Amino acid sequence: MQTILPATDFTTLGLSVSLLTAIQQRGYSQPTPIQLQAIPVILAGQDLRAKAQTGSGKTAAFGLPLLQKILQQRERPKSVLTGNQIGVLILAPTRELALQIAAALTEYAQAISPQVKILSVFGGVNITPQMLALRGGADILVATPGRLLDLVAHNAVKFTDLKTVVLDEADRLLQLGFSEELAKILSLLPKKRQNLLFSATFPPDLDAFITQLLVQPVHINCVIEAEVLIMQRVISVIPEAKNALLAHLINAGELQQVLVFANAKNTCNRLVLKLAKTGINAVALHGDKTQAARIRALNDFKQGKYQVLIATDLAARGLDIEQLPMVINFDLPRSPTDYLHRIGRTGRAGQSGLAISLLCAEEEAHFRVIEKRMKIRLVRESIAH
Ligand code: AMP
Repeated sequence: MQTILPATDFTTLGLSVSLLTAIQQRGYSQPTPIQLQAIPVILAGQDLRAKAQTGSGKTAAFGLPLLQKILQQRERPKSVLTGNQIGVLILAPTRELALQIAAALTEYAQAISPQVKILSVFGGVNITPQMLALRGGADILVATPGRLLDLVAHNAVKFTDLKTVVLDEADRLLQLGFSEELAKILSLLPKKRQNLLFSATFPPDLDAFITQLLVQPVHINCVIEAEVLIMQRVISVIPEAKNALLAHLINAGELQQVLVFANAKNTCNRLVLKLAKTGINAVALHGDKTQAARIRALNDFKQGKYQVLIATDLAARGLDIEQLPMVINFDLPRSPTDYLHRIGRTGRAGQSGLAISLLCAEEEAHFRVIEKRMKIRLVRESIAH
């Protein structure tokens, strides 16, 4: 009897030779589960509903086949970019994620055809350079919803030639209150198009969007495998002992890089000072810092100038740090969705990771809600120190 093995390498997914070379140059030896499943679906032009979190390799999962389609369209006559038309629209919840997606796609594109035009637009910066950049259109536009609508209002972007729309981190888009903007944007797009939706969670309020957005979608679920790779622990602690416990965990782990989550900007700043007193080199990343300061903090952390990065949920969205060994929830996240996103920062693309939450007695009920949604039940540990 012949056993049919599932495809396990990039060559079986229908990607062109030039893209396979780009993947090889990037050093990816095997596709991640989301890439294995999503790439053929996207190449076939179907709509997709994918459950996948940050770190699963989802950017390449939609980026590679979309680039391939752009290159194929190029070969046809009359397919040059005109006016302010865009071919692919990728919506992301934060500017950090938008920048990161655009950077990853630009890297893949450069290896195959430097002519592919990829732009990112987001709020908080001057709109004029973005309007100028959109002149002549773009193959791929990565945008946050609010700024995209500003650009529409300025007549700076046109969707008549749009072929595909991607909603990345759809749950976060809704959580950040973008539902009206999304509905408006979707109403401006051509009816005939390919729709791809990626989300780490599928809360009930996503249902309306899914119905509105997707036509006979293929369903993919890649979260289970990623969770297996993340060891989750919870340690009971009294509030007064949290700082000391944090320092102890960082030192005990002897790790090069630790990501700590706190809920308030002040807490991030305060922890940097507290950890410094115990000889731990930490840097804070939060919304009060300028974009330049945030990029600097992140780069310094990546280069090892700081051992610890202390971030709020929003500032940490879309951070691209490979193989992060440990994530610590100094404060519990506000929602199960945030919990999932936080622990998704460790155990990335096949690497195993450790996520530790510090739990005070009054947070017990809240943590139970998180456990219920995550379908886990963790032993409450206590550490004498
Ligand atoms: P993402 O989920 O798109 O944020 O990707 C997470 C990380 O995984 C990024 O740093 C990618 O460079 C990396 N990555 C993506 N695909 C692969 C692959 N097939 N093999 C190894 N690493 C990958």
